[in-house]
Amino acid sequence: MHKTLIVTNDFPPRPGGIQAFLHNMALRLDPAEIVVYASTWKRSREGVEATARFDAEQPFRVVRDRTTMLLPTPRVTRRAASLLREHGCSSVWFGAAAPLGLMAPALRAAGARRIVATSHGHEAGWAQLPAARQLLRRIGEGTDTITYLGEYTRSRIASALTREAAARMVQLPPGVDEKTFHPGSGGDAVRARLGLTDRPVVVCVSRLVPRKGQDTLIRALPAVLARVPDTVLLIVGGGPYAADLRKLAEETGVAASVRFTGPVEWAELPAHYGAGDVFAMPCRTRRGGLDVEGLGIVYLEASATGLPVVAGDSGGAPDAVLEGETGFVVRGESAAETADRVATLLLDPELRARMGARGRAWVEERWRWDLLAERLKDLL
Ligand code: GDP
Repeated sequence: MHKTLIVTNDFPPRPGGIQAFLHNMALRLDPAEIVVYASTWKRSREGVEATARFDAEQPFRVVRDRTTMLLPTPRVTRRAASLLREHGCSSVWFGAAAPLGLMAPALRAAGARRIVATSHGHEAGWAQLPAARQLLRRIGEGTDTITYLGEYTRSRIASALTREAAARMVQLPPGVDEKTFHPGSGGDAVRARLGLTDRPVVVCVSRLVPRKGQDTLIRALPAVLARVPDTVLLIVGGGPYAADLRKLAEETGVAASVRFTGPVEWAELPAHYGAGDVFAMPCRTRRGGLDVEGLGIVYLEASATGLPVVAGDSGGAPDAVLEGETGFVVRGESAAETADRVATLLLDPELRARMGARGRAWVEERWRWDLLAERLKDLL
């Protein structure tokens, strides 16, 4: 039997995108063939208990380190090596390439024959910093493959690697659960509840932080309303930018046309996508390139729901859109471009239907978790 040791800081019950990525993949591997070595969620008693409850429900074995953050220290490296031997693992998957991927040579010496390290959005930001570039280069040399999310992150990370390590990179993006996100996911009920039945709805689902561009949507709204008077902007999600966004809506004179739902339960999420006629998130890159979209999974969730999308041009967001087929990419800073694309879609039901259908088909062809887990199995 061929077993894999998964080494990761990012594993539920800690919430987040990378955590969901790792868990979705782990659930699609043979539970008898994986062992997860992860940090503990929180040091508090509740954190430790929640972690233990979560682990007990998993079909595979999870071994927790007592720390809340695994680092490639000698102690953690020894523990990983002894788990590798104890469970007879022949391959290793680092859930995030940096920094744990630095343990690769030690784990190879302990018997690992295949070592895969997955990169996410932040490694692309790191690839701009000289010290971090050195680390990425070493990780590239010690592992068999560094996986990447999309063309944007690949080119950034590859620039820090040896040419030979760059050539070994393979794309492994997170997937979309096409059974959870689908057309007819309950949007009518959400609209009815919010009093939006029969109104054109532009929906945005995301954390509320400046990079995501909810502010641009609000600034775009007067121009959208000029062309499509009854439009409502439905802003789903929570975050530190909430108060500023409300204030901006007041100042822009469009507060009556914006609805904030706050964060919604996971089970309610598909219906909130479904409440939109158009999905829009004109994200933009900030802080000189350090605050950047890795992929933009929300566009794919919207496509799976059958919505056309308007995406910003930050980082890897365009990798989640087929320009002119599943939606449009705009300059994230541009309220005018955003307004134009959004209004064009709101005014053209035939175009919306065509882009929504193409988006749904694209997710089924390319972005299903099952397909992506097969790719990971091949790599391991
Ligand atoms: P990130 O937040 O920058 O990592 O953005 P991603 O696009 O990688 O991941 C965002 C994920 O969080 C997507 O799956 C969203 O659907 C999800 N999400 C955003 N807002 C909410 C919310 O209010 N509730 C829930 N349940 N999920 C949300």
